[in-house]
Amino acid sequence: EAAEHGVPLLAYDDEIRKRAERRIELERELRHAIDAEQFELFLQPKFEARSQRVTGAEALLRWRHPQLGLVSPAEFIPLLEDTGLIVPVGHWVLRRAARLVRQWRKAAVGGLRIAVNVSARELRQHGFVRQCASILEGCGGEPCLDIEITESVLMEDIAHSMRILQALRDLGFGVAIDDFGTGYSSLNYLSRLPADTLKIDQSFVAQIAQSPESLALVTNTINLAHALGLRAVAEGVEEEEQAKLLRLLRCDELQGYLLGRPLPVDEFERTFLA
Ligand code: C2E
Ligand code: CA
Ligand code: CA
Ligand code: CA
Repeated sequence: EAAEHGVPLLAYDDEIRKRAERRIELERELRHAIDAEQFELFLQPKFEARSQRVTGAEALLRWRHPQLGLVSPAEFIPLLEDTGLIVPVGHWVLRRAARLVRQWRKAAVGGLRIAVNVSARELRQHGFVRQCASILEGCGGEPCLDIEITESVLMEDIAHSMRILQALRDLGFGVAIDDFGTGYSSLNYLSRLPADTLKIDQSFVAQIAQSPESLALVTNTINLAHALGLRAVAEGVEEEEQAKLLRLLRCDELQGYLLGRPLPVDEFERTFLA
């Protein structure tokens, strides 16, 4: 990589050292973050493609550090996973989402769902399904929670994934396969996967208006989803042209900066629940 970009070797070593130091610092800080209540949920709206109605939101974790500021999930989620801290943090996210859905229902804001991202470490954690069950107990009524799991995580251990997903669906959770198209699911498994939704990865959506290949891939993914009885959701929709194409292709739901950015909960409620 260094040679490719023509960076002198010394600067490259320096860069590696800096990154390692940052990592160690973040790891230390992450351990305090839960107790210090530095984690926050942001919500990004999802829309029914045809009616443009809000169907719910994806919960996206944010870490607000007093000195470092807002740290990106791309940086801290892998650290949470490596340290195992993703398990208590993920549990917090699920509880928070369940509480929100319940509040919305009490306020008669019916039918909105919240989707929560679940990482490999959580999915493989002994007792994960039991934990999810107890979170739902506090909810009452329709669960209205979806679990998003990336295609590559599911495919790591297909037999185990299938059992867990089935158990989650039996509890009333919806299941979405995230970042679809970036992993290597075989059609054989896909047809048997206990899931409700395919989320087309944003890397494909980004190119549909320019690249015939991306357009063909997205078209076929939407058709595949429908053939398997799944809903198709496109994420990373940034341009009107992309939204237009996706509606023409009968994509079920749209999500992306064009329609709404991830927002703090109170701002999301003010903007989309009024
Ligand atoms: P993801 O699940 O694929 O989430 C979509 C990411 O794309 C989010 O990044 C979102 O802010 C961003 N995004 C949404 N619309 C657009 C758009 O129109 N254009 C572009 N360029 N990006 C868009 P974010 O919030 O930085 O999260 C990154 C990843 O971190 C997520 O990817 C997910 O894998 C992980 N993550 C976030 N929150 C959680 C969590 O609570 N638990 C776990 N396990 N992982 C999480
Ligand atoms: Ca996701
Ligand atoms: Ca995704
Ligand atoms: Ca992703």
